[in-house]
Amino acid sequence: MKAIKFNITGTTKVYGLIGKPVSHTFSPLIHNMWFSDLGLNSIYIVFEVSPKNLKKAVKGMKALNIQGFNVTIPHKEAIIKFLDKIDPLVELIRAANTIKIENEQLIGKNTDVEGALKSITDKKFDLSNKRALIVGAGGAARAICFGIASKVKKIVIVNRTVAKARKLAKELTKKMKVDAIGKSLSKITFKDELKRTDLIINATPIGMYPNINETPIPKEYLNDSMFVFDLIYNPLETRLLKEASKIGCSVLGGIDMLINQAALAFEWWSGKKPNINLIKNKLAFLKNDVRE
Ligand code: NAP
Repeated sequence: MKAIKFNITGTTKVYGLIGKPVSHTFSPLIHNMWFSDLGLNSIYIVFEVSPKNLKKAVKGMKALNIQGFNVTIPHKEAIIKFLDKIDPLVELIRAANTIKIENEQLIGKNTDVEGALKSITDKKFDLSNKRALIVGAGGAARAICFGIASKVKKIVIVNRTVAKARKLAKELTKKMKVDAIGKSLSKITFKDELKRTDLIINATPIGMYPNINETPIPKEYLNDSMFVFDLIYNPLETRLLKEASKIGCSVLGGIDMLINQAALAFEWWSGKKPNINLIKNKLAFLKNDVRE
């Protein structure tokens, strides 16, 4: 295993991540390992930025000649109004997770969508004509829903704040012409819907460290024909995934999506393809580990 080596000079290019909370992130490990592996004079660091400081932070990124940065909870939607250019996908879903700064212009992309789709197809799950149930209606749920909308037959969005689930469902029906409905996060919804569901996606922090004993879906509603995708990567295997595996479901954790979206951002910033297996091997050592 190669150690990450830094040789910071007057020409080191700086990249980063803004969000809050950010202490749990694997992104610096991933990007710095790739910079080191490819011998690039670049570094990736983390900035904890609260919503009230977002505008000032973005101005600072430009002023300090930062080359690019990722955006995480809770800024993926709010960042858009500070960008100079956005690609058509960001325009459609109104959420960006990767920014490049070029000629003092902030350009926004969303690599979560392609990252999530790649992790599902890498597991050989065919989305066509399937019924999907998404728990959550935040930034990640939006990215996933828009990503799968043109392939699946139906999307049921289940959220604690039901109005948000209904709003997202309406938007999907209007923009993507998919059959979508928003419902409340309740046992009644699961009892009604999960009998007919092929694909479950958890896009909430339920089950994430430190609440690792929580699960968004009681195990009695799962069955072995389901594909269960939990976006959480800390822990690498959540309670939902453990219970789903035991029942015989196909399962996917959040780490593959995290690595895929990072690889797309890295390639856009640096023009170089990173070694995905290098980071997969490194993270395999952390299996079942929980980041505190
Ligand atoms: P977000 O925009 O803040 O949305 C959070 C969603 O979770 C909302 O729907 C919220 O419901 C719901 N929620 C939060 N706490 C809850 C609770 N205690 N009980 C029930 N529902 C709850 O966050 P996000 O960016 O979408 O991220 C969601 C999850 O996906 C996080 O765990 C994040 O780590 C993960 N994620 C993973 C990747 C990856 O690459 N693997 C990428 C992005 C995100 P309300 O609307 O009611 O508040």
